Amino acid sequence: MHQFIGGEHRSGTSGTPFEVLDPSTGDVVEEVLLAGPEDVDAAVGAARAAFGEWSRATPVERATVLARAATLLEERAEELARVESRHAGKPIRLAREFDVPGTVDNTAFFGAAARRLDGMASAEYSGDHTSSIRREPIGVVGSVSPWNYPLQMAAWKVLPAVAAGNTIVLKPAEITPLTSLMLAEVLTEAGAAPGVVNVVTGSGPVAGQHLVGHPDVAMTSFTGSTAVGRQVMATAAATGKRVHLELGGKAPFVVFDDADLEAAVHGAVAANLINAGQDCTAAARAIVHRSLYDDFVAGVADLYRQVRTGPTDDEATDLGPLSSRTHLDKVAGMVERARADATVVCGGRSPGGDLARGCYYEPTVVSDVALGSELWTDEVFGPVLAVVPFDDDDEAIRLANDTEYGLAASAWTRDTYRAGRASREIRAGCVWVNDHIPIISEMPHGGYKHSGFGKDMSAYSFDEYTQVKHVMHDITGIARKGWHRTVFTLPG
Ligand code: NAD
Repeated sequence: MHQFIGGEHRSGTSGTPFEVLDPSTGDVVEEVLLAGPEDVDAAVGAARAAFGEWSRATPVERATVLARAATLLEERAEELARVESRHAGKPIRLAREFDVPGTVDNTAFFGAAARRLDGMASAEYSGDHTSSIRREPIGVVGSVSPWNYPLQMAAWKVLPAVAAGNTIVLKPAEITPLTSLMLAEVLTEAGAAPGVVNVVTGSGPVAGQHLVGHPDVAMTSFTGSTAVGRQVMATAAATGKRVHLELGGKAPFVVFDDADLEAAVHGAVAANLINAGQDCTAAARAIVHRSLYDDFVAGVADLYRQVRTGPTDDEATDLGPLSSRTHLDKVAGMVERARADATVVCGGRSPGGDLARGCYYEPTVVSDVALGSELWTDEVFGPVLAVVPFDDDDEAIRLANDTEYGLAASAWTRDTYRAGRASREIRAGCVWVNDHIPIISEMPHGGYKHSGFGKDMSAYSFDEYTQVKHVMHDITGIARKGWHRTVFTLPG
């Protein structure tokens, strides 16, 4: 029963079974019957039927549902953390301290934000009419989410959509569907009418593609890779729907010569290894001033050798597995190929022993990475830090921007003017100064360049999930209005 449609758990009708695996052991967590096009049609139908009433609910009614959902999520926090940890291969500490509390906070935030949709002041801009702005929901949103943070990505898609009065059909990644189903269940239990939140767990090319191309879906919001994002945009174009894309990243981590080296080293370890590096904002390319370069590389490698790689259910584990065997092979392949023109300082292989059953990969530093090589340009999405040196600030900024991506970046310096320049000149949707990773519900998350467009989280996300209507109301009561003469004049 891995579809949640019209407020009910159902089985998929595609006839295709799929095993959800625990990537730390390879054990089967659950067997799913994938959704086919008929399930997507049923979910879109349920969302369409629920739209009228949900879109007319008052802000306080929607806010009340979300506030209740935040409480219910908190009550189920430990269960959510355990399921998230198992199917996504996350260390339990990360699921408990980051994924679940982040989702609870996001839900509470959108509960509050649902009561305040800003617009221009109503006024007599023409002199003869009162103009006002209505911010209206768009309709049925079809969302597709990735496997790296299954619960948080589901929440980032669902919450602003429903807070703004839309209904939604979410298709999570097929390898991590379980916590998205739990989120839909919680929102329904909290009072969202059946059909407001639906989840179809199917494959990308079948269920995802059908959802994105569905004529009754008014908007697509997608989080995933840039390659699939481009396909999604092309599919959505056939029905001319609104598209919001959150895509890949290759974040630069720029360490200037006046940086606090200890802070930069610790910051790089945390920002590269979070979620085993499967984070679209993870520090991927460390660009380090030549005067600090050797110490930085040695400092990060030293900490990497102390990282505790282990079973995901152990509270002491720092680094869990990658999400799947396919992904592990991709990461390992990229590091192998990089050996031709770079130095693998530490890591660069999978651990043996008990961990060999899982999709583990050791934390890896690759120094002197060749500019233009695959490891420099492509998303690895694993615990692999590429490091290069620079000599002056112009070069540092140029290297930071030497990527097709533009999701996130950080600058490490004690000089406020340098920090100001880096914040302005690095083309990314987020620039941290002397930190890298923290996110907060009140602030937007979204890309520049090929990292996509549109924002998740914060009140800015309402720009994606609402449309703005201008209502212009004549206040003169005059039948023959002065402006008519521009178009026609009566004889005499
Ligand atoms: P992916 O692009 O392979 O898949 C994402 C989703 O798209 C999955 O649900 C998949 O089933 C679906 N899909 C695949 N083909 C499809 C198609 N033809 N039509 C419709 N849907 C289809 O990405 P992934 O491997 O699951 O996730 C990792 C990627 O996500 C990385 O590139 C990462 O940077 C990105 N990501 C970005 C953000 C962000 O906020 N910008 C956040 C998290 C992850």
